[in-house]
Amino acid sequence: MKEKIQDQFKKRFGTDGVLYASAGRINLIGEHTDYNGGFVFPGAIDKYIMAEININGTDKVRVYSMDMDAYCEFGLNEEDAPQEQWARYIFGVCRETIKRGGVVKGFDTVFAGNVPLGAGLSSSAALESCFAFALNDMFNGNKIDKFELAKIGQSTEHNYCGVNCGIMDQFASVFGKKDCLMRLDCRSLEHEYFPFHPDGYKLVLLNSKVKHELVDSPYNKRRESCERVAATLGVETLRDASYTMLADIRDKVSDEDYRRARFVIGEKQRVLDVCDALERGDYETVGRCMFETHDGLSRDYEVSCEELDYLNDVARECGVTGSRIMGGGFGGCTINLVKDERYDNFIATAKEKFNAKYGHEPEVINVIISDGAHKVEG
Ligand code: ADP
Ligand code: MG
Repeated sequence: MKEKIQDQFKKRFGTDGVLYASAGRINLIGEHTDYNGGFVFPGAIDKYIMAEININGTDKVRVYSMDMDAYCEFGLNEEDAPQEQWARYIFGVCRETIKRGGVVKGFDTVFAGNVPLGAGLSSSAALESCFAFALNDMFNGNKIDKFELAKIGQSTEHNYCGVNCGIMDQFASVFGKKDCLMRLDCRSLEHEYFPFHPDGYKLVLLNSKVKHELVDSPYNKRRESCERVAATLGVETLRDASYTMLADIRDKVSDEDYRRARFVIGEKQRVLDVCDALERGDYETVGRCMFETHDGLSRDYEVSCEELDYLNDVARECGVTGSRIMGGGFGGCTINLVKDERYDNFIATAKEKFNAKYGHEPEVINVIISDGAHKVEG
């Protein structure tokens, strides 16, 4: 990809620039925990957006997207916002940097990527983080701290792309480190790195390619259930709740709310258990927790769908170590931790069975935990 970008940059702009990259992400465990003040546990992956950038001495940004095969030019004032969705991510990052007192001047750029779009690996966060990191390095002497870079990406989604996302994706893309997952405390925003180098296992995503429309309303309902239970317990969020506390108010909440809270309380503990297991290199426990998360998401939180449950069943049948829905649910990918010797059979079986039942194969996406935003040596 590097050479392809460099060739294109030279052809278009007649010079050379500096290369930057930032990654997509997975979340190993910790789902629907963010709005409950709990933990998420993401890592950056070996799928990324790369951009070559050079200051051009004008007040315009000139961008060529290799994957869209499209060119766009825009100024740096609010009224210069481009129409093209892909360019709005870059414009947004420029604007959010400027809003925070950062410097941005005109530049030329060519970029490309290999994070699958819309598969739940956060290609948009990779794009934002790549440019946020680059602008910080090129124009601001790296004075903007890394957490602020993540927030620049998040605000870009909020203010320029109409996506009301949390901070996890951009956090993971900016802070990602090879062979490490990061436990982010969504209440304090503190984070901690944990070793993740599962020798003898592969991490693979199966994209069901199912996209359910209208997921906003069930999502909001889940949040409301959690808020009701927290209020009944007299705590700020379910982060502060335990199974015992929940048992004490069992008859004061609906059965549905009870099950939603039971999942969230369990999920908080599972993230902590997985962290402990990783410090011992115990990937079997990690896998067991992943299956438990899937069951909780499917039965208690009810955010799975038939296709994802089916992929999970196939994983169990094939002796996969751990498998679960990744992301908010209602479609997208499962994430699977698979022993090397079971991998080929699992992939072949999943493709064949899923295709027989749903008329298409799941997309197979192998991932390795890798570095987040960085400058790429020319
Ligand atoms: P995801 O879950 O992958 O983040 P989004 O819908 O949030 O999905 O973001 C995808 C959007 O990000 C694309 O529609 C496009 O505008 C932009 N994008 C991502 N990757 C690229 C790329 N390689 N080239 C151009 N634009 C990209
Ligand atoms: Mg996105």
